[in-house]
Amino acid sequence: MLNEPIKILLVEDDLFYEDYLSEILLGEAKGSYELSHVVRVQEGIKYIEKDKVDVILLDMNLPDGNGLDTICEVQRQAPSTPIIVLTEYDDNELASQALQSGAQDYLVKDHIDRSTLERSIRYAIERNRLIEQLEQSKRLERHLAYHDALTKLPNRHLFHDRLQQALAQSQRSGKLTALLFLDLDGFKRINDTLGHGIGDKLLKSVAKRLKISVRQVDTIARFGGDEFTIVLLEINDAQDAKKVARKILKVISRPYKIDDHELFVTASIGISIYPGDGADIENLIRKADIAMYRAKGQGKDNYQLYNLSMDAKFSERLTLENSLRKAVENNELVAYYQPQVDLRTGRITGVEALVRWQHPKLGLVPPDNFIPLAEETGVILEIDEWMMKTACQQIKSWEKEGIANIRVAVNLSTRQFRQKNLTETVAQILKDSAVQPENLCLEITENEVMQNIETTVEILQALKKMGVFLSLDDFGTGYSSLSYLKRFPIDILKVDRAFVNGIPSDRDDTAISTAIVVLAHSMELKVIAEGVEESEQVAFLQSLQCDEIQGFYFSRPLEGEKITEMLKSKKQLFLADSFHK
Ligand code: C2E
Ligand code: MG
Ligand code: MG
Repeated sequence: MLNEPIKILLVEDDLFYEDYLSEILLGEAKGSYELSHVVRVQEGIKYIEKDKVDVILLDMNLPDGNGLDTICEVQRQAPSTPIIVLTEYDDNELASQALQSGAQDYLVKDHIDRSTLERSIRYAIERNRLIEQLEQSKRLERHLAYHDALTKLPNRHLFHDRLQQALAQSQRSGKLTALLFLDLDGFKRINDTLGHGIGDKLLKSVAKRLKISVRQVDTIARFGGDEFTIVLLEINDAQDAKKVARKILKVISRPYKIDDHELFVTASIGISIYPGDGADIENLIRKADIAMYRAKGQGKDNYQLYNLSMDAKFSERLTLENSLRKAVENNELVAYYQPQVDLRTGRITGVEALVRWQHPKLGLVPPDNFIPLAEETGVILEIDEWMMKTACQQIKSWEKEGIANIRVAVNLSTRQFRQKNLTETVAQILKDSAVQPENLCLEITENEVMQNIETTVEILQALKKMGVFLSLDDFGTGYSSLSYLKRFPIDILKVDRAFVNGIPSDRDDTAISTAIVVLAHSMELKVIAEGVEESEQVAFLQSLQCDEIQGFYFSRPLEGEKITEMLKSKKQLFLADSFHK
């Protein structure tokens, strides 16, 4: 608004000066200024209550004013309007006091001429504008230092402050404060598969939903990544905190529409309560965090209230987590191999590589005891890669011993499957070990492939193009719509142990296994039945023309040396002819 006139309020009781200043401002410089005039301080204050002006010219000697106090009074009323003080005397002391009291400039009436006045007004306004800007950027800086840029929620620092205040308030009132530690389940997967842009939008939506789930007085902060903390003030008992946690879980789990995606996420919440669970911030956070891990361990999408017994479990977990990280480095992983047998010839056609952990203190740890933790912590990526390399080295060393054409299956975790460079990793491992791709089979589980059909098809096609075998593990345990199967370029379907278990006596298991075999064959897929333990199961599977079996009936998983012996000995499955149909 450069051309708009500058609005000036003159507070002056000396009419001679009023005339003089009007003449300066409204005479030659007509149009540049708009001058209003009042005689008393109180009138001036009333005026600026109603109308905004750009600058105030304030006489220091007014009938109802008292020197420097007048400046303060006017400034209180219009803190962002610059004030230029007019006095009778040229007094340096007074000038500096006026400036300290908040005036922008100081003019001695007898020395005022057009150029001094105009310059003073423009400088006062400009200086004031710069100060305002500075204040604003300071305010912004303060805000940024205490808020998360993405969600605009308080950050970790402000959360600490607020929690500290809440504890002090609790102490005074005798009421409780609850701390909720929330971590999103499966957020990393969304971030990894759909990209950070979508991940960020999801976090923003989550933050919005959290805000509407608690009272205004409560604090929600972004603690980091996909972790949020919530301070509930002045609650009566743990039930109140649980109620809020339930509400949050429900609100979070509703579908999110982000760009073209419909996304689902859940949360795990840990709760600690002041003063019962801890007297200070660090303790309360630590305990809420421990409780949150427990909630994850309980299958996610739930909340847990901290209790003492969790501590021991937590440190156990930490120790395990640390030693698991070292397991790969220290060469503590061992590959076992379980044979897969052709039901027509009785010969071993392939093996499945299954990992074990030779723990220095715990002994041989089965995968079910450490794979979930490895998945949660990301160590699974190293484990799976180690397994692919080890399996390929094994294939090569068998080839050298004249054992050829054994297909070795390696399990891939969801995390590994969703790695952007999976195909490159597989290609590199095959190249380094000089193994033919058709000797390697990658097993992925049904749940995995159902997570994001489009990208799954792309990944599978890329792997298929390389020439490796692909098999769908644990089939029947997920929620696959069978029609999807057609879209996946897989070679083998593995019927889960759960169904094989009940055949042929359990009618449901038998019906399901039969349907899976028939369906797989209609799609030209090979079927391997897992977990075959009994001769009756073998017989029935044979009658179904199931292609292969894997299970304790023929052999348990064996260490490298033992399986090599078995392959060399050409051990076969005895097949009774009468079972053929
Ligand atoms: P899976 O891939 O379904 O492997 C088959 C599991 O069934 C193996 O358990 C095997 O020992 C067991 N099994 C085989 N035959 C029988 C039988 O006749 N009766 C019974 N009761 N069980 C039988 P294991 O070795 O304990 O592995 C469990 C799971 O751990 C595997 O299930 C797989 O999902 C996972 N796993 C194993 N090794 C790896 C690996 O290197 N990477 C990844 N990502 N997962 C692995
Ligand atoms: Mg498997
Ligand atoms: Mg399986």
